Amino acid sequence: MSDWDIIVAGAGHNSLLTAAYAARAGFKVMVLEGAREIGGDTSCEEMTLPGFIHDPCATAHNLIQSNPLMRENELQLDRYGLKYLYPDPVFAMPFRDGRSITMWRDLDRTCAELARFSQADAQAYRALLSDWQGLAPIVNDEREHPPRPPAEVIARTRAGALGDRGVAIRQATALDIICERFQEQHVRAFFAWIAFMTLHPLDEPQTGMLAFSLVAGRQRFSWILPEGGSNRLPLALARIIQEQGGEIMTSTPENLPADYLAGIARWKPSVTMFAAHYSLDEPPRFKTEAGPMASVTMAGLESIGALQRMLAAFRAGRLELEDPVILALTPTVIDPSRAPAGKHTFKLISFLPYALAEGPERWDAVKEDVADQLFESIAPLTTNLSKRIVLGRTVNSPLDLERRNPANWRGSCHGGASTPEQSGWYRPVEGWSSYRTPVAGLYQTGACTHPGGSVSGLPGRNCAAILLEDLGSSLQDAIHPREKETVI
Ligand SMILES: Cc1cc2nc3c(=O)[nH]c(=O)nc-3n(C[C@H](O)[C@H](O)[C@H](O)COP(=O)(O)OP(=O)(O)OC[C@H]3O[C@@H](n4cnc5c(N)ncnc54)[C@H](O)[C@@H]3O)c2cc1C
Repeated sequence: MSDWDIIVAGAGHNSLLTAAYAARAGFKVMVLEGAREIGGDTSCEEMTLPGFIHDPCATAHNLIQSNPLMRENELQLDRYGLKYLYPDPVFAMPFRDGRSITMWRDLDRTCAELARFSQADAQAYRALLSDWQGLAPIVNDEREHPPRPPAEVIARTRAGALGDRGVAIRQATALDIICERFQEQHVRAFFAWIAFMTLHPLDEPQTGMLAFSLVAGRQRFSWILPEGGSNRLPLALARIIQEQGGEIMTSTPENLPADYLAGIARWKPSVTMFAAHYSLDEPPRFKTEAGPMASVTMAGLESIGALQRMLAAFRAGRLELEDPVILALTPTVIDPSRAPAGKHTFKLISFLPYALAEGPERWDAVKEDVADQLFESIAPLTTNLSKRIVLGRTVNSPLDLERRNPANWRGSCHGGASTPEQSGWYRPVEGWSSYRTPVAGLYQTGACTHPGGSVSGLPGRNCAAILLEDLGSSLQDAIHPREKETVI
């Protein structure tokens, strides 16, 4: 007999969350993690120089903010060392023609930025946020529960505030939505860049909702990040598990059976990322029309056409570095605790194929040169980014990201593509999207399960709900453990 009620394989934030709810509900939990540290894609490392705390993978913890975990403070993670910081500006977006758009936490201020390009587009932004109010209750409810069959999803959407218009939005591509609603080309690039940030190709069907949910989320929660580093989330969850008598063992991989591995081989990866990490002497100052601006987040996308060219090159396995799509992060602008006094950490991300036409191994030969080219391409968008301010650098190609975490399979950073056949009812497999598996007593969670990748914690919480229900318990037992003791 095992000493444990529940054994969890992998210590990413999702499985830790399932484990934390179960531990709080009174179950004895053991977590086995293959890597040396917990956290998976929400880990931290001194990747460049001592004292510089980098997030090798996720930095923004945006999607988890609307999870009831945070919304209702269900596990009181703030008591376990987790504190979120809300950058303002949300992000700066400089263009090569000298124009710029800045998203501010204040909606009127963001609209004023858009109105410099087009009054009509600023109004269209308010209309988009208002439409989201009609869609949000339906979409959030879907994300917070096991997936429903597609026909039911459509019926519920049709019954919602937007009626058939809501259904049409869900079926559309995000690029169609953006081009229908916004006319000016910089403004279109601004919205396309935000909508692309969970790496779904925006020209694919059923991506329309991203033009609403991601945009509204950024406006509401900013580019939110944990003080101290991304690993503060898994560390807080680990403390809850340990406080309840649970145990976490690292460097302990679980062996997966061959037929399971064969099934994984059929999974389709998502768009993949390339990340260069720098320690800097000063923060990059981005050129905006209001003057040079240090910003936690910088967006780089010249036009919708540049995004389409990037997607075409991606699908062909070609490195297209002429006009790259960029996400640049300088967390130390708001969180000085991540670096020695006055110094900065900087992450330069682009969206480049794992599957190079010459094979993924090619990455080892070209990655340093690719990082140089990306750096040179954004330097003109700043007043000060040059080798002069670089103290150290470590480059992670999509192949390196897979080596770092087997869950980044084929470099896929968001649990695999969220195409219609790998989403909702079909994620990870039709008939098994409720976190149960064909093996009695075996459950699955993580980015490969509904509602997919990102730091949302939703697969973890949803899985906990099902697991606890099957064990005769509930999330409520985890959220109010003392009341439960009183009842007993
Ligand atoms: C470069 C990069 C940047 C990103 N940026 C963001 C961002 O800013 N915001 C955002 O929301 N999302 C971002 N993401 C995506 C996000 O980080 C992931 O989708 C999310 O963290 C996945 O969490 P998870 O708990 O499902 O799994 P993971 O974090 O992948 O954890 C899985 C864990 O399981 C372990 N494991 C795997 N196999 C075994 C085994 N056989 N035995 C034992 N342990 C095993 C792994 O070592 C790992 O620790 C980024 C991802 C990458 C790679």
